[in-house]
Amino acid sequence: MTPTPSVDLAPYTTFGIHAVAEYFVSVTTIDTLLEAISWARTRGASFHILGGGSNVLISGDVQGLVIHIRLQERSASVEGDVVTVRSGAGENWHQVVTWTVERGWAGLENLALIPGTVGAAPMQNIGAYGVEQSACFHELDAMNADTGEIKTFTKDDCNFGYRESIFKRELRDKCVITSVTYRLSTVPTIRASYKDVTEELAVRGITQPTIMDVYSSVVAIRTRKLPDPKVIGNAGSFFKNPVVSAQKATTLHESHPLLPVYPQADGSSKLAAAWLIDQCGWKGVREGDAGVHANQALVLVNHGSAEGAQIIDLATRIQQSVFDRFGVELEREVNVW
Ligand code: FAD
Ligand code: NAP
Repeated sequence: MTPTPSVDLAPYTTFGIHAVAEYFVSVTTIDTLLEAISWARTRGASFHILGGGSNVLISGDVQGLVIHIRLQERSASVEGDVVTVRSGAGENWHQVVTWTVERGWAGLENLALIPGTVGAAPMQNIGAYGVEQSACFHELDAMNADTGEIKTFTKDDCNFGYRESIFKRELRDKCVITSVTYRLSTVPTIRASYKDVTEELAVRGITQPTIMDVYSSVVAIRTRKLPDPKVIGNAGSFFKNPVVSAQKATTLHESHPLLPVYPQADGSSKLAAAWLIDQCGWKGVREGDAGVHANQALVLVNHGSAEGAQIIDLATRIQQSVFDRFGVELEREVNVW
């Protein structure tokens, strides 16, 4: 394990922003992960964990060691109708989803085509089309960065919430997820009530969808609708959809009847951040190479050679204008280094 000095991180993140890591190493085994963390510690250097780089904005050159997680393993066991699937943290998320759906194992099909690695999925409890990974999460293993010990976290330990987990909060930078285990089923529960999925299935003339139908519909919708980082640098939704009290949502809805409001099980209400940003006139705005996507106001983009600081400056002004107009605070979803 010999870290490489001065590595440009642009090819390692979907934003494609140029910034230099002081040191960089890819790890493919638990032992080299441990070695990499010790290497940083003995030099008094910080370390940063990088998966697929699809939820990271790098604000400038990175001091210390960037550890690129490439832990690969995949196994499955079937008992009755329960399928237990374990995957290394460095596996590509979409490839694992595809592998399960092709075998008729239900649970992850709505989460097809989300970029990134399996190890980062619990980090923000990834979700799409009405499903979060927590729905079929079983447990994960994570290395304690101080002691090097591997601990198993059950679902209850992870404090999953809307784009949230203990790893994004209390345990941020304190442990490295090394593998994740999901409990899937050979008896599918089809979740197709999300508007875009329902419409796509209807267009295809499918009335009794299989998990493969849901999977391929989600792939088609995403390919058509979401900005491809290979074409334009981005990290998906830059902000979380704000969750406010039902009372605040009602007040806002009275003054802005077109505001999409989604009541939550706990009595709160989720607002569509994209709508709020669009109303403030940001959709399609471009300042140099930093901008807001022309069709997706929630997605900030790098048109070519934007710097991280420019994107952050733009994001801060978007947050301020939404607050000034609606009294709603937008929280960043993307992790800023
Ligand atoms: P990275 O960006 O590499 O890392 C993200 C954070 O997790 C960093 O803070 C990093 O330090 C930490 N981390 C990464 N791996 C580990 C590990 N093994 N242990 C501990 N910490 C770790 N997200 C959704 O929820 N739903 C979507 O539908 C969705 N669609 C997207 C569409 C596009 C076009 C893009 C660009 C992004 C989208 N995202 C979506 C965001 C992103 O894909 C997910 O958050 C994904 O899980 C990030 O994975 P990654 O491996 O790229 O993580
Ligand atoms: P969309 O369908 O245009 O919907 C816009 C927003 O409204 C979404 O953020 C979604 O919240 C919310 N919404 C729509 N229908 C809902 C319902 N029935 N109940 C509750 N909330 C509802 O969204 P999109 O931009 O095309 O994205 C499609 C899906 O992919 C969404 O689930 C989105 O979260 C996910 N996605 C996420 C990212 C990311 O980086 N996090 C990037 C691209 C796409 P939710 O976000 O809570 O679903």
